[in-house]
Amino acid sequence: MSFGSVALSVIVGRARAARRLNTLTCTGEGGYPQELVPYADNVITQVATGLFGVREETIQYAPVVELKYAQGAKPGLGGHLLGDKVTSAVAALRETVVGNALFSPFPFHSVYSVEDNKKHIDWVKEMNPRALVSVKVSTPTDVDMVAVGSYHAGAHIIHFDGSYGGTGAAPDIAKKNIAMPIEYAIPKVHRFLTEEGVRDQVCLIASGGIRNAMDVAKAIALGADGVVIGTAELVALECIRCGNCESGRGCARGIATTDAELGCMVDEAWAEQRIVNMYTAWRKQWCELLRQYGLRSIRELVGRSDLLVHLDYLEEEERARYKSSPVEHRVL
Ligand code: SF4
Repeated sequence: MSFGSVALSVIVGRARAARRLNTLTCTGEGGYPQELVPYADNVITQVATGLFGVREETIQYAPVVELKYAQGAKPGLGGHLLGDKVTSAVAALRETVVGNALFSPFPFHSVYSVEDNKKHIDWVKEMNPRALVSVKVSTPTDVDMVAVGSYHAGAHIIHFDGSYGGTGAAPDIAKKNIAMPIEYAIPKVHRFLTEEGVRDQVCLIASGGIRNAMDVAKAIALGADGVVIGTAELVALECIRCGNCESGRGCARGIATTDAELGCMVDEAWAEQRIVNMYTAWRKQWCELLRQYGLRSIRELVGRSDLLVHLDYLEEEERARYKSSPVEHRVL
């Protein structure tokens, strides 16, 4: 989530939480606010199709640079920030004009095939050889081909984003209607890369509708190495899911706003602690799950789809039995 889509205090709160949890957060496509520089070791720099705020130094700060080709909630549509949210601070960072709606095109105009991916990856590696390069794509039916093509182009991380993510700013007509749900995409990509003999050479990160600890465990059991969380963190910050994210002053909680007055509703230290609390609670659930399965680390869960049961395929009675005691009955 970029500076422009959410308040600066939310972005900094997430970065502070990422540092405490030894994980990563991402700039989104709105540029790299100076306030994030102290947390640079935990911040992914995103390079998206609009190239808003993309500068050489922000690529050089980053341990991971993400090339965003598409987003699962609105594949084929690009980003859209309404003029109401383009305040002077947002316009300065994005090098644009106050009050003008901003559209990110789709796709990158310099990329017409998966092979063209390589020149972007080489460009990033030239500027920052120490960075890992991530390629973010949505989940079309040939997502497995995109993944293997990205690997051969030199990507270290494939981040694929399913159709159930997105904030209230993603148009309803696109959400859940275009890309594949992430639970179908993960095993497809995992299997294909395994058959190609390159699965161990690349990191698979999944996102799009992963909203709680058990969703994370399921994604990993299906074959992901890790996940990206967006909406759940906003809910941890008391987002009420009203869907007004795109409007300038419509966020009841001061989260999805660039308005200085509303943005003060979220305190950075409070946001940091709320997000740390959420992941600490999730971690307890994962530890319990691993203990019950006799696994020593979450790494051992990767690709263990044999531990999953598709509840919709069961008879009513059997389904109720599984639901009452999921772990004993091998349902994550
Ligand atoms: S409270 Fe509403 S406007 Fe604010 S982030 Fe949540 S869904 Fe978006």
